[in-house]
Amino acid sequence: MAKWVYMFTEGNATMRNLLGGKGANLAEMTNLGLPVPQGFTITTEACTQYYEDGKKINDEIMAQIMESITKMEEITGKKFGDKENPLLVSVRSGARASMPGMMDTILNLGLNEEVVEVLANKSGNPRWAWDCYRRFIQMYSDVVMEVGKKYFEELIDKMKEEKGVTEDVDLTAEDLKDLAGQFKAEYKEKIGQDFPTDPKEQLMGAIKAVFRSWDNPRANVYRRDNDIPYSWGTAVNVQMMAFGNMGDTSGTGVAFTRDPATGEKKLMGEFLMNAQGEDVVAGVRTPQKISQLHEVMPEVYDQFVAICDKLEDHYRDMQDMEFTIEDKKLYMLQTRNGKRTAQAALQIACDLVDEGMITEEKAVAMIDPRNLDTLLHPQFDAAALKAATPIGKALGASPGAACGKAVFTADDAKNWAARGEKVILVRLETSPEDIEGMKAAQGILTVRGGMTSHAAVVARGMGTCCVSGCGDIVMDEANKKFTLGGKEFHEGDAISLDGSTGNIYDGLIPTVDATIAGTFGRIMGWADKYRTMKVRTNADTPGDAKKARELGAEGIGLCRTEHMFFEGNRIDAFREMICSETVEEREAALEKILPEQQGDFEKLYEALEGNPVTIRFLDPPLHEFVPTDEDDIKKLADAQGKTVEQIKTIIDSLHEFNPMMGHRGCRLAVTYPEIAKMQTRAVIRAAINVQKAHADWNVCPEIMIPLIGDIKEFKYVKKIVVETADAEIAAAGSSIKYEVGTMIEIPRACLTADEIAKEADFFCFGTNDLTQMTFGFSRDDAGKFLDAYYDAKIFENDPFAKLDQTGVGQLMEMAITKGKPANANLHVGICGEHGGDPSSVEFCNKLGLNYVSCSPFRVPIARLAAAQAAITAKNA
Ligand code: PEP
Ligand code: MG
Repeated sequence: MAKWVYMFTEGNATMRNLLGGKGANLAEMTNLGLPVPQGFTITTEACTQYYEDGKKINDEIMAQIMESITKMEEITGKKFGDKENPLLVSVRSGARASMPGMMDTILNLGLNEEVVEVLANKSGNPRWAWDCYRRFIQMYSDVVMEVGKKYFEELIDKMKEEKGVTEDVDLTAEDLKDLAGQFKAEYKEKIGQDFPTDPKEQLMGAIKAVFRSWDNPRANVYRRDNDIPYSWGTAVNVQMMAFGNMGDTSGTGVAFTRDPATGEKKLMGEFLMNAQGEDVVAGVRTPQKISQLHEVMPEVYDQFVAICDKLEDHYRDMQDMEFTIEDKKLYMLQTRNGKRTAQAALQIACDLVDEGMITEEKAVAMIDPRNLDTLLHPQFDAAALKAATPIGKALGASPGAACGKAVFTADDAKNWAARGEKVILVRLETSPEDIEGMKAAQGILTVRGGMTSHAAVVARGMGTCCVSGCGDIVMDEANKKFTLGGKEFHEGDAISLDGSTGNIYDGLIPTVDATIAGTFGRIMGWADKYRTMKVRTNADTPGDAKKARELGAEGIGLCRTEHMFFEGNRIDAFREMICSETVEEREAALEKILPEQQGDFEKLYEALEGNPVTIRFLDPPLHEFVPTDEDDIKKLADAQGKTVEQIKTIIDSLHEFNPMMGHRGCRLAVTYPEIAKMQTRAVIRAAINVQKAHADWNVCPEIMIPLIGDIKEFKYVKKIVVETADAEIAAAGSSIKYEVGTMIEIPRACLTADEIAKEADFFCFGTNDLTQMTFGFSRDDAGKFLDAYYDAKIFENDPFAKLDQTGVGQLMEMAITKGKPANANLHVGICGEHGGDPSSVEFCNKLGLNYVSCSPFRVPIARLAAAQAAITAKNA
């Protein structure tokens, strides 16, 4: 019989896949002898089974849960529904990878009318007992039965108003008892049944709700963004409650062993006396700093500090912990490797190496490459920042520079961003429902909440700038406005946020590009030491190429030459070329473009300082270049000595029903060989000139032919290239070498790669087209139906962003397996979008690619991902 449930005493930290991160660490802390309220973990496999069984908990799992309740009652000496010593539990989710705030939690489970009286009498604290009960009804109704929170919040607000108080803590035991009654009546009205009184029935409802929450929309979005497979499922942790809301000798808090925003080595955290965990995270009350606990309860503080040190030493990483103090007794509720900003991740990794805690390899392995993105984005221009006066200041909860127009709801953030506006989401506080709006925003500003509030934690995870807890803001969410620093801001007004200092500015502050230095440079240096794959860049302009070199690119893997035809007046000549009716006309137009192309290539070779440059010949369909507005058509007609009508007829003739599968790629060179000739001349002449100017560089152009599906296509175009190139080289008396290779982006090229490899000097996987053609999805239109595919669980990710290793990957493997034996010198790379995606980079490393090529800002991400892939491969 499978084991579906583990007591905390039965697990350990290595069982993360089965017990989830939270469950495995609760077990590990139990093993370390730390004060952990005891309980059990229902495995992630039970979650998967729940879905397989049609969202039901089967009898075998149910029996093991019941058995574990009995064991838990024995361990704790408390019993569900007992009149003397009742057991209350928390029920929390816990997946393999942490997904903060994405799934559900239920506290104080086990309460009913009788148990609440027992608690009230036993504790001599009826206010606490009734507070627990009303919280439980509220949470259970919201999470398990999906009755919206707002009805209960309205009842609380009404009660506070009637009693003339502003804070929840000012409500008396009688008020809370009254509220509990109102809540139950509300429940009955909405659900049509009485609120459940049997603790076991409550527990099964809660467990199902946690399993169900694995599939809620925000968890699905979070998983997609963080590469967490749906198949993993979540575990459920059932743990004896420790009460932080028992009075002034109780409290609850969260802490990090190092600063999650900067990485600085110091205990950071917050706590609230007389509160439960959700009060800290929800940001409803603004908490105190952890250091103040020293004054409130010195012994508890010292014990907590000792535990923090022990945990960090044990896990050799920054820990994020949750604790509760129940009447002066400390309990640890959770520890995990803390989420951190990219900046903090680098600092912590370097510090841990310097402290002798971890190796350089471990440091490289512990940084999420996707996080680096935030460091590569612009920062505020220092001079402009100095000159600006902040209108307010709050907590710098997630660093970065953000400016944009103020919006007040997550939906507005999403909608405004979708139409290209940069927005700052301004909220009283955020909640998990806001996730998509937060993602769409440049920055997040909240009125309430500390460093561990939902807004702060989630923003750091996403690498979005966040300033939280700005109590000076007078907020009017309903009318979409707020007042700060004596000024009223309305929806659409521009503001800027500095997520490091917490400063808030009126208007837009200019930004500047980031650089790789300090800890970033150190980690990149280590990454370069361990990786075996090269990293090139996709760049079409000398500016992009220079940026990519600064970020560590070791060559250009793809220069899309079509992007060079739009600049200046080149487009005019290019249009003349397209609309030519004879070869002579076409050649005359191309003659005008040649020197411009040559100049572009020279600048690229200069920028790359002798490193390889792959120039891809013209790829897209010609209709993309033709004029659309009347003035341009007239201009072209005049230049060509044709009528407007004639030009329009030519334009019409270029129309294609399916341009993605149409007259593009090498097909253009087949129909118009003079284009390939002109491009070859430009490449070779540029290379000869740059080689002459830099004798110590090795300029060896790599000419890449797109969209090859048949060896005969390749041979045909290659012949044009070779004849033209050799003639140029001979005429110049040069000895320059060059290569002619192909993109592998049509499935047929993979199937016949052995034939193609005999002729091609290199392969470069164009996985954008290869994905398009393997799935038969248009890369331009797939976005319109992918959401439905995610909802139906057909896809978990966009295959155009994350390589489909099963299908497209198999074609790549086939191309290599067939190609390499046919040409011992064949070098192989990838230049589709996937070249900058960490999991795809790992796959490319496995396939033995020589390089990945990606956009300039993703170069550091690819360098780190390639190093991690090499380290994983070595340790496998
Ligand atoms: C590709 O298809 O993957 C590729 C890099 O080329 P393009 O995106 O220009 O079609
Ligand atoms: Mg392509």
